[in-house]
Amino acid sequence: MTKTYKPDWVPQQDDDKFACRVMYGVKGGHEGMPNITIDPERKSAPVIKRKRLDVDDYVDGVLKGDRMVLSRAITLVESNAAAHFNMAQQVIQKLLPYTGKSSRIGITGVPGAGKSTFIEALGTNLCRAGHKVAVLAVDPSSTVTKGSILGDKTRMEQLSREENAFVRPSPSGGTLGGLTRKSRETLLLCEAAGYDTILVETVGVGQSETTVRSMVDFFLLVVLTGAGDELQGMKKGVMELADAIVVNKANKQRAFVTRAEYERILQFLRPATENWLTKAYTCSAFTGAGIMELWHDVVEVFMQQGRGNGVLTERRKQQTLSWVYTMVEEHLRNLFYRAPEIVACKGSIEEAVVEGRLTATLAVQELIGKFSQTSLSGRNVDASSPFEIK
Ligand code: GDP
Repeated sequence: MTKTYKPDWVPQQDDDKFACRVMYGVKGGHEGMPNITIDPERKSAPVIKRKRLDVDDYVDGVLKGDRMVLSRAITLVESNAAAHFNMAQQVIQKLLPYTGKSSRIGITGVPGAGKSTFIEALGTNLCRAGHKVAVLAVDPSSTVTKGSILGDKTRMEQLSREENAFVRPSPSGGTLGGLTRKSRETLLLCEAAGYDTILVETVGVGQSETTVRSMVDFFLLVVLTGAGDELQGMKKGVMELADAIVVNKANKQRAFVTRAEYERILQFLRPATENWLTKAYTCSAFTGAGIMELWHDVVEVFMQQGRGNGVLTERRKQQTLSWVYTMVEEHLRNLFYRAPEIVACKGSIEEAVVEGRLTATLAVQELIGKFSQTSLSGRNVDASSPFEIK
């Protein structure tokens, strides 16, 4: 037994009671992994140097379906650094011809509805049936409060072990604006890596359902049993985005009553997709009952029908275009609020408006006038990473 090396931060008795323990790697390393040797005299943890990848390394690795390179490409996309932004854009541009072939499925529902359990069961079944499944999460809480609803639990252990699965938690530490771009580009990277089914999980918080709806083909709402009260609390808007509603935890009799309640309400709502009737179903994510039936009889039928009648092609075109203009708006907004002349005069104009000395309409004219004078005379814009609000 070699001398045990402990960094300063490890408790003297690092037994099972402690959350952190030092694990020693396998001597000789693992294929593709750096070979780490531990020097017992070292005072700090060894630094693992990873090979720097260039644009072509990323492109080749992703196209080969190398999960390690795919993960690193996603990290590049998620980075807020200007240099990474430019490189990520080159990678995505080169991969663009290889994207678009997957079924993009969004899954939403309140925390505790059973989304993760559902995805774990569905994803595992699909992998075993020969599909390549990527699971992404769009979690607005991680960007707003720095806490995470989707990311902090042990995620899909069984699915993560499947050879054909790729489970990626939500990007952290970004901005709400950047989150949409990061999630969409991550989806494209997964498609280029050969994943034919992309499951995008989100919670019913803030804008996240609309964000996810705008990047998927099919949108599934997972709800709980408990009829009346929950239905009243449920935002009608979310039901209007859904292509199917599934009442989970159907091992309880109440699921069927809840389903009937949802069916009744759905009659009064406009379906989310042309030529498709949104209906309610039941399942048990826990036992797996109803999940593959939902997949074959609803999702696959939807995808087949939508590809056949052109509805999906049209939806994707519209989604991409509206994404472009969303980014244009975001970019313009950032240029406006960061412009020195706006920063300089904003306070006094606001004061004049709230004190009733200036009408709101004239305030807008003044602000826009100040902005366009400078922007029209040639602004030196830092466009390296325009979509992040710093
Ligand atoms: P999420 O927050 O929507 O991702 O919900 P989870 O998948 O984490 O599930 C929340 C809890 O409900 C977990 O303890 C699950 O084990 C449990 N659960 C999920 N699906 C079912 C089900 O079909 N039946 C029962 N009885 N429990 C379930």
